[in-house]
Amino acid sequence: MSRIIGIDLGTTFSAVSAVRAGRPGILPDGSERIIPSVVGFAPSGALLVGTPARNQLILHPEDTVRSIKRRMGTEETVRLHGHDFRPVEISALILKEMKRIAEANLGEPVDRAVITVPAFFSDAARQATKEAGELAGFTVDRIINEPTAAALAFGLDRVDENSLVAVYDLGGGTFDVSIIELNQGVIEVRASHGDTCLGGDDFDALLAERLLAAFKDAHGPSADPSRDPRAMARLRRAAEAAKIALSVKPFATVREEFLLERDGKPLHLEVEVSREEFEELIEPLLERSLACFDQALTDAGLTAGDLDRVILVGGSTRIPLVWEMVGRHAGLEPMCEINPDEAVALGAGIQAAIIQGEAIDAVLVDVTPHSLGIEVVDWAFGTLVDDRYQAIIHRNSALPTTRAMAFSAVHPEQTRIEVKIYQGEAAVASDNTLLGEFLFEGLKPDKPGLPPSITVEFDLDVNGILHVSATDRGSRKVKQTTVQASHERLSPADKQATVRFLEGVWGDGEMELAQARAGDDPLLARARALLASRESGDCSNLADLVRRADKAMAEGRHEALGEILDQVVDCLYELEGD
Ligand code: ADP
Ligand code: MG
Repeated sequence: MSRIIGIDLGTTFSAVSAVRAGRPGILPDGSERIIPSVVGFAPSGALLVGTPARNQLILHPEDTVRSIKRRMGTEETVRLHGHDFRPVEISALILKEMKRIAEANLGEPVDRAVITVPAFFSDAARQATKEAGELAGFTVDRIINEPTAAALAFGLDRVDENSLVAVYDLGGGTFDVSIIELNQGVIEVRASHGDTCLGGDDFDALLAERLLAAFKDAHGPSADPSRDPRAMARLRRAAEAAKIALSVKPFATVREEFLLERDGKPLHLEVEVSREEFEELIEPLLERSLACFDQALTDAGLTAGDLDRVILVGGSTRIPLVWEMVGRHAGLEPMCEINPDEAVALGAGIQAAIIQGEAIDAVLVDVTPHSLGIEVVDWAFGTLVDDRYQAIIHRNSALPTTRAMAFSAVHPEQTRIEVKIYQGEAAVASDNTLLGEFLFEGLKPDKPGLPPSITVEFDLDVNGILHVSATDRGSRKVKQTTVQASHERLSPADKQATVRFLEGVWGDGEMELAQARAGDDPLLARARALLASRESGDCSNLADLVRRADKAMAEGRHEALGEILDQVVDCLYELEGD
């Protein structure tokens, strides 16, 4: 039986871990412990996943995709290199890369995995994640919630403790908060809440807007990079770098040379941003996260005063203001003794080991973040009111869970009903998210003269995926469905075709990946080609950068390499511009 690995399939970064000799650990790719969740195609058509893809984002934003996780569970496709990819396929390519990294570390084939999702992910997005795992060649043993995984990583060392813990996870694209109870080695999620569109990406966007405004102030309104995708990608990247710098410094200087050209003249961006200014920009978003925090506490029947600990998870919790605001709000000094970028992956690895039967002193109980129910009609003041919502499984129920309710048709002669399945909390059914519907026909009255009686059973499995069945008591007919939401499941034949297609894409990309790792980053390759085609005098700057990049790469100093590559981009623009 193959070893099961744990994967944090993040919006911005992904990581993989496994328990070896009783200890969970991140499985690195060289010196990289977290891998950018970015996929792209080089101009040659070769597939790029991770850092090489992230590096070419600036030069070829049109052939590169990031933050695909935000589209999981939707049918939106992305066009890369002349081919439309579904979000599951992009995620599958990232998971294939994680599989490769795991196999390289473990020295054996790996085909089973536990994959994490935000606690607030919809059913469709969970199913899409599972499917992405399968497309990547995994048997997906379990889908678990990210904050739960983080708590598992945290709880392992504190199995004797009884306490209430809030896990505040602010990543690149999503925010999640869970209230967790640790009790004699059992970790129980009491409630979770979140926002699938709140994270560091949004901070970058706000800061990029600020940079854009500064650029226009300096050069006049006709200098508008917003129609130039490359310039915008550079602004975004500069904004993120400034944001990260502001986590440790009160001021950051942003300098982007040759951002645009006007009448043949280069226009540069140079602006200083203060931490205060940045904090003002993001404070409303952080307030939103605290409202979620309170909602989770309310759902758990608690107040902030009941909490014993607050754990911070996710790269964005390195921002000092996050620390400050969460600490003040919870009345507790937040803890972050587990690396915020790695806790989720470590927890997934621990869950994998538990499934595998390794002796680990923790048990996991997870909850559903949304209520699940059906549309019903109600009698009110002698008239029928339709579009009402009846929850069958209430939010924050522990998984797996099965709940059944009996419903009556409206008229005795009625032979069919339409079952509409919703997820959400609103009293008006159509204000919730429609997950699926089916027609149930051939109904018979259970007792003469009375309308047929139907039992609807909701079975929410351990992965948070919903199976619904309806039984007519009169005819004893049963109708079943697994909820597919708006997400169309692939037929087995389509699935195989997709697996083959991805393998083809992957196969062609393999060489490019190997080259990128051997030092042929696409950016550097381009820089080298330019050097080769030019007189040496006019690009000594670039030659010097390439030398420094080679050195950084040889020494495995990836952070330094990132910085140098940024400068390479500037240099390329300057040289290619004239
Ligand atoms: P996800 O779980 O969404 O994949 P992570 O938890 O890895 O993301 O967090 C990634 C986010 O954290 C990015 O938006 C990144 O810019 C941000 N980030 C990383 N380090 C810092 C830092 N030192 N200061 C501020 N933000 C940071
Ligand atoms: Mg994360």
